[in-house]
Amino acid sequence: NAKENGKNNYQYYTSSLNLSNQRRMELETGLRNAINNNELSLHYQPQVNLVSNQIIGLEALVRWQHPKYGFISPAEFIPLAEETGLIFSIGKWVLKTACTQCKQWIDFGLPIESVSVNVSPLQFREKNFVSSVNQILEESDLPPRYLELEITESVTSNVNQALSIMKEIKELGVRFAIDDFGTGYSSLNYLRHFPIHKLKIDKSFIDEINQHKDGEEIVKTIIELGNRLRFQVIAEGVEDEQQLSFLKENNCYLAQGYFFSKPLPAEEIEVLLRKKIVE
Ligand code: C2E
Ligand code: MG
Ligand code: MG
Ligand code: MG
Repeated sequence: NAKENGKNNYQYYTSSLNLSNQRRMELETGLRNAINNNELSLHYQPQVNLVSNQIIGLEALVRWQHPKYGFISPAEFIPLAEETGLIFSIGKWVLKTACTQCKQWIDFGLPIESVSVNVSPLQFREKNFVSSVNQILEESDLPPRYLELEITESVTSNVNQALSIMKEIKELGVRFAIDDFGTGYSSLNYLRHFPIHKLKIDKSFIDEINQHKDGEEIVKTIIELGNRLRFQVIAEGVEDEQQLSFLKENNCYLAQGYFFSKPLPAEEIEVLLRKKIVE
């Protein structure tokens, strides 16, 4: 057996490596056809105003139902899409689907204020990004003020490039949120210069509430920074009542997380929107 025999040990190692290589290759091939095969879908997670209890926005999160492996997390396939260049077509599909869905909800008369779409740094820097956002808004007939794009701090590292792209998109009437705020390595100075509407405090900080005093101080400081710079500040990954009261006590009035709702398929979101508030 493997313990007694170095050679077997090596074979065991390579065969398990091959297995993950095989999965990777299958996923890569599968991802190429995922759009055409209708294997991608969007779930939406409510963003809630803690004062009115109203849903103020919905974040679109992509899902992949693989014919052999079943549900595959975007945490696994988005990096793969970025490595293979498939992120561009997947990103456009997500944007188009989210905008079309949002427009339909508006036409139904449902109370919706915005839909948020995650944008990969590669997609953001692609040379036709601005025109493809514009084109998708036109095709879906969605008024641009309903669209929010979630980018991460990393895109701001190239200041001039990021600034010019963001300004052009802002001109269209589209807003920006900084996703996973606080986890990047970027300077804070960019916050003054970029057209940013919302800061999303990363879940890793929210997890510190009622766990670590220093972590709580960081959460308070991020909220205060955001408020002072007049951004909307939203907490992501809120899972319990204690986190919620801490946030309210410290002047954070927007939140998103399993405490309110997991990301849900469009039909289920529609039911929530018809009820108007989440309990
Ligand atoms: P994110 O944009 O920071 O999204 C938040 C993630 O946290 C989502 O995972 C969401 O389901 C999860 N989440 C929300 N509330 C809670 C909570 O209370 N507890 C816990 N444990 N988790 C919570 P998901 O859907 O698996 O997405 C993971 C990441 O994949 C996203 O992080 C985003 O970076 C990326 N992603 C998802 N959809 C897209 C997309 O369409 N395009 C791109 N480029 N990236 C995407
Ligand atoms: Mg996000
Ligand atoms: Mg996030
Ligand atoms: Mg996150």
